[in-house]
Amino acid sequence: MTQQTFDVIVIGAGPGGYVAAIRAAQLGFKVACIDEWSNADGGPAPGGTCTNVGCIPSKALLQSSEHFEHARLHFAEHGISTGAVKIDVGQMLGRKNTVVKQNNDGILYLFKKNKVAFFHGRGSFVRAFEGGYEIAVAAGAAGAAGAEPQTLAAKQVIVATGSSARALPGVPFDEVNVLSNDGGLRLGAVPKRLAVIGSGVIGLELGSVWRRLGADVTVLEGLPVFLGAVDEQIAREAKKAFDKQGLKIELGVQVGEIKALKKGVSIAYTNAKGEPQTLEADKLIVSIGRVPNTNGLNAQAVGLQLDERGAIVVDADCRSNLPGVWAVGDVVRGPMLAHKAEEEGVAVAERIAGQHGHVNFDTIPWVIYTSPEIAWVGRTEQQLKADGVAYRVGTFPFLANGRARALGDTTGMVKMLADAATDQILGVHIVGPMASELIAEAVLAMEFKASAEDIARICHAHPSLSEATKEAALAVDKRALNF
Ligand SMILES: Cc1cc2nc3c(=O)[nH]c(=O)nc-3n(C[C@H](O)[C@H](O)[C@H](O)COP(=O)(O)OP(=O)(O)OC[C@H]3O[C@@H](n4cnc5c(N)ncnc54)[C@H](O)[C@@H]3O)c2cc1C
Repeated sequence: MTQQTFDVIVIGAGPGGYVAAIRAAQLGFKVACIDEWSNADGGPAPGGTCTNVGCIPSKALLQSSEHFEHARLHFAEHGISTGAVKIDVGQMLGRKNTVVKQNNDGILYLFKKNKVAFFHGRGSFVRAFEGGYEIAVAAGAAGAAGAEPQTLAAKQVIVATGSSARALPGVPFDEVNVLSNDGGLRLGAVPKRLAVIGSGVIGLELGSVWRRLGADVTVLEGLPVFLGAVDEQIAREAKKAFDKQGLKIELGVQVGEIKALKKGVSIAYTNAKGEPQTLEADKLIVSIGRVPNTNGLNAQAVGLQLDERGAIVVDADCRSNLPGVWAVGDVVRGPMLAHKAEEEGVAVAERIAGQHGHVNFDTIPWVIYTSPEIAWVGRTEQQLKADGVAYRVGTFPFLANGRARALGDTTGMVKMLADAATDQILGVHIVGPMASELIAEAVLAMEFKASAEDIARICHAHPSLSEATKEAALAVDKRALNF
């Protein structure tokens, strides 16, 4: 058995891990990164959930399905005529796989460029020794790490092993009829009837993809409110748009028995009125949250502390209970978002180097890439009310924005909340076209503790969707110009 010594070992090459590895290498450390994800050929596929079965493939399919819907429903308005619009699901999935592979390869290239040693296989703790940790790298399922297991040693270990889809109790994912995000992103044909349990980000995004392609989609949600974490006004506006599109969302349901049928599944549930119902569907996507990946780590070998969910217990700076062992991303507390994982990865690498890496949890943006997109940063109106904060609110509808009219997409609004006394921006909430891009201005403003007036006084390009943000800022002071 060979052993190699590094300054920093990163376990997991998702957005948390690969970015931590690159930053640590930039800071002059000798770095190893271990990841077990394999592509269809058994080769390494770094990038984690995000690249392989999360952010990237879902956005690729959202884009394809949006093109399809535009061609079907909206091209005629522009004077463009087509024959009957058809979808080739195989081609669409092939394109998605290419996009994923480009990202996998991009990370391997970045590792080479930054001299990060990459190991394909499962990393697990072997033992702690005076001044460091020994980590075994076992060959992945495809034997990609080579026949002989290797051990690595380092003073500093960053665990970034991410998370996996949570199954309903007693209903394991078979990825044929009962699908996680993984199966939901590689259906070979458009199902006639698709059921989705869970109306969070993943359920809404995957439900939207297959609805746009022609599936009859029903989303069952246990909570009585739609998108409880989102500003209520914004969530209402989004719900109206989804209803109009024919995405059926039932709130306040209690899911009972799920049975396999000859073709598909049947889902017994009680609706919000307590009435028993049965939904039959060809495919079921279960998107009820995610569980941290700590099973394969052999955490007990070194006494790494986990909580009752299996997440690694860390402090605000991502330090575990063990000296020199850090954890970032989905495997620790906090929002399960790729950019949160990345920020934590960078901050940890900088802390290891004695710098003052910092993540501002108050300005982490959230995005749901449905149509309309939903994006927000900071506090919602209901949170400000609950916290007893005096605020002023400005809203501006895309209906009154010239660029949105030209795009033919005037759904939604920008809503800005500012402190009543100081005018400091406390939250920005957007439902509408390109909300995912527009939110960056709000994040920047909040990071710099800007006031609504600051945004109102900044020159925004015309015609642009960003003018809606400026107008919402003007509206905080009741002086919007175009509404
Ligand atoms: C369908 C879907 C869509 C999403 N869309 C978005 C989005 O648009 N924006 C957003 O911000 N977030 C999105 N997310 C969430 C995002 O994917 C995660 O928050 C992010 O991937 C977490 O990064 P991570 O580095 O912590 O873990 P992961 O990306 O899960 O990566 C962990 C890696 O560690 C590997 N690993 C685990 N254990 C071991 C071990 N013992 N040894 C070696 N390797 C190991 C895994 O194989 C994996 O490659 C989405 C998630 C899903 C499922």
